[in-house]
Amino acid sequence: MDEDFKKLQEVAKNLAHKNRLNEYVKYGHVAAALMTDKGNIYSGVAITCTCQIGFCAEHSAIAEMLKNGENRIVKIVAMNSNVPVPPCGRCREFIRMVNEENMEASVMIEEGKSVKLRELLPYAWTLDSFDK
Ligand SMILES: [Zn+2]
Repeated sequence: MDEDFKKLQEVAKNLAHKNRLNEYVKYGHVAAALMTDKGNIYSGVAITCTCQIGFCAEHSAIAEMLKNGENRIVKIVAMNSNVPVPPCGRCREFIRMVNEENMEASVMIEEGKSVKLRELLPYAWTLDSFDK
């Protein structure tokens, strides 16, 4: 398997633990790790409140990346415990919006299998869609 994905899976696995902060908030049930075009790795965890406020692990990994002045993702994986899970539709759009070139990012969708984001998001909307 791709060594970079192995490394990303390890980073995410080490963060993917079911944690309960209090009666309202759980976090870390899903964790994500991404690699940028500079070879840096950023990670994040999902946070979910009882009232359904929250965000995906990919969102927090992307926030960490942006905080460090980067936005070009080459590989990304999210882990639910030891199992890679594909990004939800919102995350697919979010990954694209932070940098259009992220359509070429490799996304692990199941153990040992990755696809380009463009394959997961074949009809992405653009601002041009509203000008017609
Ligand atoms: Zn998501």
